[in-house]
Amino acid sequence: MPGPEQTAEESAAEDGAAEQGTAEQGAPEESADVIVVGAGPAGSTAAAHLARTGLDVLLLEKSAFPREKVCGDGLTPRAVKQLTDLGIDVSEEAGWLHNRGLRLVTGRRSFEFEWPELSAFPGYGLVRRRADFDELLARKAASYGARLVERANVAGPLVDERTGRITGVTAKLGEERRPAVYRAPIVVAADGNSTRLSVAMKRYRRTDRAMGVAYRTYFTTPRHQDRYLEAWLDLRDPDDPAGRLLPGYAWVFGMGDGTANVGLGVLDTAGTDVDWRELLRRWCEDLPPAYGYTPDGVTEPIRGAALPMGLNRQPHYADGLLLVGDAGGTVSPGTGEGIAYAMESGRYAAEAIVQALARRTDRSRELALRAYPQTLRSAYAGYFALGRLAADLLGRPRLLGAAGSAGLGSPALLKVAFRLMVNLTEPHAKDSLDRLLHLVGRVAPGR
Ligand SMILES: Cc1cc2nc3c(=O)[nH]c(=O)nc-3n(C[C@H](O)[C@H](O)[C@H](O)COP(=O)(O)OP(=O)(O)OC[C@H]3O[C@@H](n4cnc5c(N)ncnc54)[C@H](O)[C@@H]3O)c2cc1C
Repeated sequence: MPGPEQTAEESAAEDGAAEQGTAEQGAPEESADVIVVGAGPAGSTAAAHLARTGLDVLLLEKSAFPREKVCGDGLTPRAVKQLTDLGIDVSEEAGWLHNRGLRLVTGRRSFEFEWPELSAFPGYGLVRRRADFDELLARKAASYGARLVERANVAGPLVDERTGRITGVTAKLGEERRPAVYRAPIVVAADGNSTRLSVAMKRYRRTDRAMGVAYRTYFTTPRHQDRYLEAWLDLRDPDDPAGRLLPGYAWVFGMGDGTANVGLGVLDTAGTDVDWRELLRRWCEDLPPAYGYTPDGVTEPIRGAALPMGLNRQPHYADGLLLVGDAGGTVSPGTGEGIAYAMESGRYAAEAIVQALARRTDRSRELALRAYPQTLRSAYAGYFALGRLAADLLGRPRLLGAAGSAGLGSPALLKVAFRLMVNLTEPHAKDSLDRLLHLVGRVAPGR
């Protein structure tokens, strides 16, 4: 079985980081209990939970807020829970658009599934632009006492040569790229998919995990206040004469501001050589007239990025460094959803760090930190395997055989796939399907 491998890109990133890994003479220094690198959803959530307990936290972010982030801007009830746990006002008056569930469109039919009402999660989701969303979260972390440093581009780790442990990071500040040094016994890599910090610490991507991509743009539409997130399942390879279904979907999420975010996500790009921008352009042109799509109504360029999935960068803890969010590959392989998992993993990491820093010996601190990868595995590995299976089945209806002759159009099948993919189940739910799926998610094999 192929294990973690260093890609050419990672090797280049590591070479760069190694050169910069030593503290420049005379550079100003600061220290803290914990350094968090990257103020996306994962980093800001980790920093907020750490700072809330009174720890001294440095949150280093290379850009300045507000900044754009390529995304679908859709939030499921899992993300809503993380936001409300942080004390964030998610009311419509505070600028959030609420949604009731997911509409799955397949062929000419569409099915609406309400978010389930569960004790752990609210029965609604949200939509908000990332420029706004990420700034709000970072400022929340700062309001709890995290020291947010914007325009702090982390160049590489500082490593104790004797032990191999990370002891801090070097950074370049502002446009002048002034050198700076930050020291802490524990560092959290929350620097997204490219995660130069993890690569410099030799955490390479597992090439045996699927890698996804997603592209999006915005267009003006009368459907901008749609109360459902909408996913179109029949996404086909335009270059395949038989119109092969791609393992992914296209979405239209009303933004409530006169526009919709429209995009496509493909959950496994292996064996495909598709021009994704062109596919999205063509897909939009085929939208029914009610959507009001015209090329002139497109308000932003098509942009895309990778979806690091299925816990594809490991170990999630070693030598003083924890990987959270996209840096640790926490995007769901069933849906491409990443924000809720980024926030949850940030929180799990913070909880392990708080426990570690309250211990008296190095050995005991290590034990507490090693709980983090175990927590991630028990929370996600089974569900990620099942979500992936559900997405595979939807992408390959022939695999469903006779039971699937209704294929993509069967409401019962879609309901099971929906619950599996969105990972919203619990042991004591009223609905027996929820209870069953929860159990299956717990026992499904995952690595
Ligand atoms: C087109 C597209 C659509 C998507 N749609 C959705 C969706 O609708 N819903 C959903 O839940 N998920 C969606 N995702 C996935 C989601 O965007 C990610 O999973 C999520 O942003 C991960 O959060 P993060 O905090 O781990 O990383 P990021 O959001 O990437 O944040 C990383 C942060 O680190 C900073 N950083 C990077 N390098 C450095 C450095 N050297 N020094 C300091 N700071 C640094 C970056 O500036 C950034 O602020 C989508 C992804 C794509 C590409």
